[in-house]
Amino acid sequence: MIRTRFAPSPTGVLHLGSVRTALFCWLYAKHCDGQFVLRIEDTDKERSTKENVNAILEGMSWLGMDYDEGPIFQTDRFERYHEIAKNWLELGKAYRCYCSKDELDKMRNKQKEKGEKTRYNGHCRDLKRNDSKEGFVLRFKNPLSGKVVVNDQVRGEVEFENHELDDLVIVRTDGSPTYNFAVVIDDADMNISHVIRGDDHLNNTPRQINMFKALGVNAPIYSHLPMILGDDGAKLSKRHGAVDIRDYREQGFIPEAILNYLVRLGWSYGDQEVFNTEEMIKLFDLSDINQSAAAFSSDKLLWLNQEYMMHARAESLVPHLRYHMDLIGIDRSDGPELIEVIEAYRERAETFTQMADACRYCYEEFDEIDPKAIKKQLRPVILEPMIALHSRLKLVEEWSHEIINACVNEVASIFDINMGKIGQPLRVAVTGISASPPIHVTLCLIGQERTLKRLERAIEIIKKRAESN
Ligand code: GLU
Repeated sequence: MIRTRFAPSPTGVLHLGSVRTALFCWLYAKHCDGQFVLRIEDTDKERSTKENVNAILEGMSWLGMDYDEGPIFQTDRFERYHEIAKNWLELGKAYRCYCSKDELDKMRNKQKEKGEKTRYNGHCRDLKRNDSKEGFVLRFKNPLSGKVVVNDQVRGEVEFENHELDDLVIVRTDGSPTYNFAVVIDDADMNISHVIRGDDHLNNTPRQINMFKALGVNAPIYSHLPMILGDDGAKLSKRHGAVDIRDYREQGFIPEAILNYLVRLGWSYGDQEVFNTEEMIKLFDLSDINQSAAAFSSDKLLWLNQEYMMHARAESLVPHLRYHMDLIGIDRSDGPELIEVIEAYRERAETFTQMADACRYCYEEFDEIDPKAIKKQLRPVILEPMIALHSRLKLVEEWSHEIINACVNEVASIFDINMGKIGQPLRVAVTGISASPPIHVTLCLIGQERTLKRLERAIEIIKKRAESN
């Protein structure tokens, strides 16, 4: 059984880099008909917060990444870590270290002076002291010789000499387990077959493999993902835009588009750029993960988002538009069906924030027509055609694209002007601005009653202007 896990630390929110890690773990489990576990690594009690846990859970749920087990919290498993620590202490696989902070500082400084790598020198490793009252930490007895070969699915074979690795603290003075220790026990207990994570963890892996040996359990298969760089070549960070995945939701992105974008950061399938989730699951494999760092591009993410807006089933987009209209406080009680707005705007907006912002006039009155547009479009020459149009539109019984078009065409031909000459003033009159979907579509969205009212207002404006001339 293939089992993967995503193991974020709630010391921060869910950001793009971790979402990509989660996605690869999730996809691989789904691809193999395996299971995906969510584990919250909250052993750092000071820096882990409830808010961050919520941010992670909310983010996962918004992205549609479901898990077969979890969330499992490491803080609920302290007893288990202590059990193993006690066992290792008894078996001599771990030892108590009484070195004080001062002593450790001195040790490091000496090593630095000599130009050596700073590491724990094993001072307490063979100490015949069994004093459990005094402040101490537990350290793992890392093998002194030999090497560890990490057979990484992305990097290939990476070798580490044991004498390069020092004896890691596994339990702190306050009894809390450290990351490397807890992670090994969890991966073992949870039967994780594949660990997929950022390559900033590669250096931890030989230490973890040694601890797996101490447990007498086979280590999982590791894949370390290349990091994600920003447009400027530096490691992706806050400077490159939204960090919290929830910010992307607020900015009007579609979760599927984000997943599609992220899957291409470090993984490829020929030149294909657009994958729906099913395709991703079908095609994703560890052997196609690239070794080199991937570059994040906000333009490309935006492009992909619009691809999704244009091609997704319109019904599936309704909840997104609704969410964003509510977010900016549009009263949806009187206006077109959201699906009509989506059909009208899906090729004109890159995000749902833009779409929601653009469609407000379909639901609510606007106070003012853009003065520039008034000056340019609501001129006295257009007064008669607008009055003629108003009287025709008033008689329409079935408010439809065809009939609206026919009315506009008829008025244009009676006054011998082209469609644009009447369409544009009409648009300004009913939307207050100069850009909207084709005029018959716009009028349908607005509805007959509102259209007429707005036209009347524009006619008054034009009349006043004619009088003052
Ligand atoms: N809690 C670790 C992190 O957030 C996870 C490391 C791992 O996947 O082993 O970086």
